[in-house]
Amino acid sequence: MTESGARPSNFIRKIIDADLASGKHSEVHTRFPPEPNGYLHIGHAKSIVLNFGIAEDYQGTCNLRFDDTNPLKESLEYVSAIKDDVRWLGYEWSGEPRYSSSYFDALHGFAIELIEKGLAYVDFSSQDDIRAMRGTLTAPGQNSPYRDTPVQDNLDAFARMTAGEYKEGECSLRAKIDMASPFMCMRDPVIYRIRHVHHHQTGDKWCVYPMYDFTHCISDALEGITHSLCTLEFQDNRRLYDWVLDNISIDCHPQQIEFSRLNLEYTVMSKRKLNELVTEQHVAGWDDPRMPTIAGLRRRGYTPAAIREFAHRIGVTKMDNMVEMGVLESCIRDDLNTNAPRAMAVLEPVRVVIENYPENQHEMLVAPNHPNDESLGSRQVPFSGVLYIEREDFREEANKKFKRLVLGKEVRLRNAYVIKAERVEKDEAGEIQTIYCSYDADTLGQDPADGRKVKGVIHWVSVPHALPAEIRLYDRLFQVPNPGAAETLAESLNPESLVVVEGYVEPSLADAEPGKGIQFERVGYFCRDSKDGTENTLVFNRTVGLRDSWAKMEAQDA
Ligand code: ATP
Ligand code: MG
Repeated sequence: MTESGARPSNFIRKIIDADLASGKHSEVHTRFPPEPNGYLHIGHAKSIVLNFGIAEDYQGTCNLRFDDTNPLKESLEYVSAIKDDVRWLGYEWSGEPRYSSSYFDALHGFAIELIEKGLAYVDFSSQDDIRAMRGTLTAPGQNSPYRDTPVQDNLDAFARMTAGEYKEGECSLRAKIDMASPFMCMRDPVIYRIRHVHHHQTGDKWCVYPMYDFTHCISDALEGITHSLCTLEFQDNRRLYDWVLDNISIDCHPQQIEFSRLNLEYTVMSKRKLNELVTEQHVAGWDDPRMPTIAGLRRRGYTPAAIREFAHRIGVTKMDNMVEMGVLESCIRDDLNTNAPRAMAVLEPVRVVIENYPENQHEMLVAPNHPNDESLGSRQVPFSGVLYIEREDFREEANKKFKRLVLGKEVRLRNAYVIKAERVEKDEAGEIQTIYCSYDADTLGQDPADGRKVKGVIHWVSVPHALPAEIRLYDRLFQVPNPGAAETLAESLNPESLVVVEGYVEPSLADAEPGKGIQFERVGYFCRDSKDGTENTLVFNRTVGLRDSWAKMEAQDA
């Protein structure tokens, strides 16, 4: 796919342009700061394309930083999956990946600096008391009885906290700001808490861990970030971001800029909810092809280019909204329509016997891999007198609108001959077992000589050559546009989000490359699964249909 060349500007790029023009910055330095507590999802892709894309376009740099201050929920599995996903999307971070945890010494030092300046204190109030004294949006909070502890006592208490002399929850370090601030985040926020747990990077070195708001701004500053892009829910927290940097001895003061997060219809986006889908086994794992994770989309057959294009199409604003799933789907459909080679597969087969085709004979026909792009070449497709076609492509009777095979009428077999249905054989239940046909040997690659018009074209595979395949028809995981709003995720699941059929594919697909898109002609876009199946068994995942069938249904409902 040709991605839209010049990136559309947005309010963040305008701020950067102005900063470069005024000389505030001579280069741009961004970062992508995931917390390694889950797999990345399509919302993260928006942030990745924004941060890495800006660095690319302004010849700046972008760091990958693991924001790992909560060891309870984090793991190395996530760290490594996140690196894979960012690279797969087509980006490379500057230098080594960073870890907030590698700044723990520096952060601890800055905490002591705040204590020394009388701007932080150790609070022995219980968490419940701290919460109760925070006040509300309309009422100011109350000062803690520990707020005016002398500096030296605070230094001692923090040292003992750090040495592991207190239990979890027994005390915490709070910034001393303003208990009457209209911004709740400024009412003496906790900046350090006790956690007697092992950390995946720092092991057992620490039992006090810095909070996100304290860590993030300092990490940004230590890395020389110029523009710190985050989602809108951190708008208020910008006050705290700036307060911390204004009150410690550090030269760099990045600018935090907020943009609206991606919300996508028919799915959920928070890692907590995605985790729930995995642990409650509603899906087969973080990379289940129905998950909105990068790993799931990749296994489903999405390409990095389609995901980047999606990020460009939705743009970057400060307005919260819900993006239609159709927008994402049309990005991959456009990509695959241009780039995916074609092949034939029959999902719900019925047998066709061509009675005038020489018995036990077959021939190799040549089929173009793409109707409009010769550079994709061609392949050989075996043809014989016994074929499978789709059951729904045949009717004993039909009106003119049905441009497929009808008893007594002709249809073209894709890349092959014109056939005519002569009679059918049914089983006791009345289901058609075999359609007996005749073929016109003079119609390979040309219309019938006598000028008969044959309108319909159907796909097929040759029974003696076809390969059985498990075909997984994936659809949207949820059947309601906003499943996150429901009480439980389970109640909104689409019971038909995965339908498995046993079909047949043409033999050229024996060594289809996992993950690489193929159009099954007239059926949809698929890719070979990257996990299941073996050398000898084929499993294909449906990436997306040829057309937006949900849009059609929604129009009918309306
Ligand atoms: P979640 O709510 O899914 O757990 P998070 O914000 O806690 O997300 P982080 O790992 O902290 O996840 O996010 C890393 C970066 O990705 C942050 O800068 C965050 O703003 C951004 N991000 C996360 N979700 C979205 C989204 N839906 N749209 C855009 N950016 C997002
Ligand atoms: Mg977060």
